[in-house]
Amino acid sequence: PSRKDCPADTEALGRSTWTFLHTTAAYYPVSAPTSTQTQMRNLLSSLSLLYPCVPCAEDFQEKVKENPPDVSGREGLSRWLCERHNEVNEKLGKESFDCAWKSLNERWKDGPEDGRCD
Ligand code: FAD
Repeated sequence: PSRKDCPADTEALGRSTWTFLHTTAAYYPVSAPTSTQTQMRNLLSSLSLLYPCVPCAEDFQEKVKENPPDVSGREGLSRWLCERHNEVNEKLGKESFDCAWKSLNERWKDGPEDGRCD
């Protein structure tokens, strides 16, 4: 049976949230104006407080405290998120993602060169 219309579990919620965050970073201004930087800082801070998986939220708050978000522009924000996502990957025993700009861009914005996502 398909779980398509079931309430989100930790995995589904996580996948959707990472999709939102990495995609938002991929379309974030290359160089963000101060007001946009404030909005992004607020978004990440609110997310860390409101995320509806309590152990996930608590860990994320800690990590954000240790590594304040780089909200300066697209590349910095994308890399910052990639590093935070890798910290969760490591905790869960998942493979680490290559945070090089090309890999991030392929995965979250332009798709691979072979065109299979076009
Ligand atoms: P996901 O980890 O959801 O990744 C989705 C896709 O993103 C991958 O298929 C890959 O293509 C890409 N990707 C993977 N790593 C990166 C990266 N570093 N940068 C860019 N793209 C990447 N779950 C828990 O069990 N415990 C927790 O404490 C926990 N904390 C979380 C905190 C936050 C803020 C979020 C958003 C999620 C958290 N999760 C946590 C959920 C967890 O991270 C995964 O989303 C979930 O386990 C599903 O994993 P997945 O293998 O489907 O891929």
